[in-house]
Amino acid sequence: MTNQDTIFSKIIRREIPANIVYEDDLALAFTDVNPQAPVHILVIPKKPIAKLAEAETEDAALLGHLLLTAKRVAAEAGLTNGYRVVINTDADGGQTVFHLHLHILGGRSLAWPPG
Ligand code: 5GP
Repeated sequence: MTNQDTIFSKIIRREIPANIVYEDDLALAFTDVNPQAPVHILVIPKKPIAKLAEAETEDAALLGHLLLTAKRVAAEAGLTNGYRVVINTDADGGQTVFHLHLHILGGRSLAWPPG
């Protein structure tokens, strides 16, 4: 599946606005437009990987970088009491935007299991 022109690609290219909280050469983080918790931030790679199922072995360092970026962003958001990192993948995972993204959810106690 190609994903060169998702809404997230437009955010990377600054074609649509977003509340960007972190950026480096490989990753971008911005607040979710429809937050499901008091803190809801998305971390995305600048590389247009459509979904986790399409990540390759060559992406290993990038995937690690995204997790460490999530840790950094969560700390900067003040989530000292914990948080959840979620990757929804494909139809059954509830993925709606086909550009890989990590959800950081926090600021309240989160139920388990998710729906
Ligand atoms: P998914 O359902 O694919 O795991 O998550 C996609 C997320 O992207 C949803 O939480 C949705 O609210 C968020 N989202 C969709 N469009 C936009 C947008 O234009 N801006 C921002 N900031 N978030 C968006």
